[in-house]
Amino acid sequence: MEYDKTKYKIWTWNNPVMLHWIINPGLAINELLLGQRVPKTMLIEKGSLKSLQERTKIPCPHCGTLHSGLKWSTSNNAFKNWFGLYCDNCGKTIPCLTNFTSLLLLGLTFPIWILFKDKWKRNWLLKQPDRYKNLDLENVPNPFEGYGWVRQGLYWGFFMYVFMTVIFPLIDDEGITLGKTLIGIPFWIIGGLGFGYTMKLINGKSKPKTQTN
Ligand SMILES: [Zn+2]
Repeated sequence: MEYDKTKYKIWTWNNPVMLHWIINPGLAINELLLGQRVPKTMLIEKGSLKSLQERTKIPCPHCGTLHSGLKWSTSNNAFKNWFGLYCDNCGKTIPCLTNFTSLLLLGLTFPIWILFKDKWKRNWLLKQPDRYKNLDLENVPNPFEGYGWVRQGLYWGFFMYVFMTVIFPLIDDEGITLGKTLIGIPFWIIGGLGFGYTMKLINGKSKPKTQTN
């Protein structure tokens, strides 16, 4: 599909934000457990002072609708999008990127899920229209605004800590060690704050250009 390049910046896999989604192994959790997905193409409105979230448009390649990115903000349908982003105009799904670690995990566990995939997808599709009926696209809070990034970052850090130091070693047979449990605390606090601050920068309102004269 062709998009109006004078109006939009076009983000595909080679944009840094999109590449980060593909490369960061931690995001496999967001994808596989939470069902958070990033579409393969995003359009970012140019020359607007609104936040990135508000400037993002997500095109449906099947029917051409330009959806507001706010449909998939955390107060709307950010999660449970395991099979892609549902287009409430044509009922098809908008193709998404796949995180590299997710891809590996899906490849390794393929004999388990392949039998159920079609049934799961059918059930998932049936549930979608209802999820898009009463979306509020006007009052969407930015969870990273002000000092929100600290809280969001610490949530994420805590989640990663539990996953990486407790759940993962149990699966991996490595066992939980006191050393790792202690080192994990400062590691994921710093990691979490880094994540929160990056999200604040990404989601923030763009500053008006300062005039030079
Ligand atoms: Zn569509």
